[in-house]
Amino acid sequence: MKRALAGAFALALTTFFMISNLSARGNNETTAEGAREMIIGVLDAVSPDSIHSFDLKLVSFGTRHTMSDTTSPTRGIGAARRWIESKFREFASSDPNFKVFKDEFLQPVSSRISKPTNIVNVYGILRGTEGPSGRYIVLSGHYDSIVSNFMDSTSDAPGADDDGSGASLVIEAARAFTSSGFRPAANIVFLCCAAEEQGLYGSHHFAQMAEQNGWNIVADLNDDIVGGTRGGNGVLENGEIRVFSEGLREVTIGDRKIAASMFGYESDSPSRELARYINNAARMYLPGFKTDLVFRSDRFLRGGDQTSFNEFGYPAVRFTEPNEDYNHQHQYVRVENGVQYGDLPVFVDPSFVALVCRVNSASAALLSVSPSRPQEPVMMVDKLEYGTRLRWKNPRSAAVSGWKVYYRETWQPLWSNYVFVPYTAAGGEIEASLPELSKDKFIFGIATVGKNGVESPAVVPLPQR
Ligand SMILES: [Zn+2]
Repeated sequence: MKRALAGAFALALTTFFMISNLSARGNNETTAEGAREMIIGVLDAVSPDSIHSFDLKLVSFGTRHTMSDTTSPTRGIGAARRWIESKFREFASSDPNFKVFKDEFLQPVSSRISKPTNIVNVYGILRGTEGPSGRYIVLSGHYDSIVSNFMDSTSDAPGADDDGSGASLVIEAARAFTSSGFRPAANIVFLCCAAEEQGLYGSHHFAQMAEQNGWNIVADLNDDIVGGTRGGNGVLENGEIRVFSEGLREVTIGDRKIAASMFGYESDSPSRELARYINNAARMYLPGFKTDLVFRSDRFLRGGDQTSFNEFGYPAVRFTEPNEDYNHQHQYVRVENGVQYGDLPVFVDPSFVALVCRVNSASAALLSVSPSRPQEPVMMVDKLEYGTRLRWKNPRSAAVSGWKVYYRETWQPLWSNYVFVPYTAAGGEIEASLPELSKDKFIFGIATVGKNGVESPAVVPLPQR
C-alpha cells in the first residue's frame, strides 16, 4: 500500500517522542498513562541511600580482583559475587518474574590472567511478556576491581567508583524495577560482570553466550565509573553524564559490504541510535539532567564491556562521569605528598549515581515497552528523482499506532524533525513518499510507535536500486 505524504514540511515539527499526545486505543498492553506511571514508579524507587549501601558493601570485600580469594566469606571476589547473587535472590523473592542466573567459565592463562581462573558473571532477568524468545535489554556494570599493578590480587582494591558505582547502579535498578512491580514486554537483564579489568573476559563470554542462545539483544547500557562529580581537573559537575557510542564502519547490502561514508551513515550505527534514544529518554524524564553524547566508543587509552556487546553485533553504549580523577582509579590506597590516592567511597556521590541510574532506568523501561524497530527499511534509489521514497515491512502487531520518519540534515547530530505515518491493518509493505524532502540532502531514520505512545529507536533505511 502507498501513502503520499505531501506537504511534509508543514507537518514537520521539532517534537520528540511525546507520550502524551497519543492516546491509548485498542488492545495493547500498556496505555500511554499506564506506561508513564510505571516508568515514574521505577524512577521514584531509585534511592541514593540504597546505592550508597550497596557500594559500601562491595568495597567491604577488600579486593574484588578477578584472581582474588573465592573461599573467604568476607574478603575477595567470591564473597562479592555471592553477595550480589543474594541481593538478586532477595529481589526475586518479591517478584516471580525476576530470575537469577550465573554465567560461569574457566579462563585459561592469558596476558592478564596468571592462573586458570573461574570467572562468574551474576545476572537477573526481569521476564517480559514477550518471553525468552523476545527482545533483551541489558544494564551492565563490572564488579571486579584492580590497583596500580593489575596482577596484584591481594592488596586492597576498593573500586568504589570503578566500578562499584556501576555495579551498585545495576543492583539498584534491579531493586527499583522489581519493587515497583514494573511489567516489561521485552526482557530486562541486570548484569554484573567480572574480569573487565583483566581484558573484558566476563562480558565477552556473556555476549558470546547470548549469541549462541540466539538472544535478540537490542541494547546494552554499560555503566562504568559513574559516581565521581569532582574531576582531577578540579571541575565539579553533577548535572550531566557522558554517553559514549561507536559509529558505523560499513553497511551490508546483500553480500556487498559498503563503506558507511558512502551514504553519510557513519553516525547512524545502531549504538548511536541507542544513544540518541537515551538522550530523548533523559529529556522526557529528567529534564534538568544532561546526557552528553560522545560519538566515540570510549575514551582514549580506555575500554569497557560495551565493546564486547558491539563485537557480537549488539547495540551498546557506555555511561561515564563527566570529569574523571585518575588519582582515584586503578591506584594503591595511599597518601603521597598530602594527596589521597585510591578508589574510595568518599569520592563517590550516591545522589549522582542515582541520577545516572534513573537515566538508565527510564531508557531501559521505554525500550522494554516499545514496539520492535521497523523491519527491512529501504530507501528507493532505482531512478533519479527529487523526493524520497521509503519502504519497510508492516509488522503483525495490534500494538503499533504508526511510524515516525525522522529526518535531519547530514551535518546535524540529532534527529530534529519527523513525519508521522499511521499504521495500516492491511499488512505487507509500507511506502512513505516524501516528495519535498530530497534524499541527497537529508538522512532518514524510521522508528515504530506503539499505541502506548512509546517508540523504538530509529533505524536508517538502506539504499535499494
Ligand atoms: Zn571500569
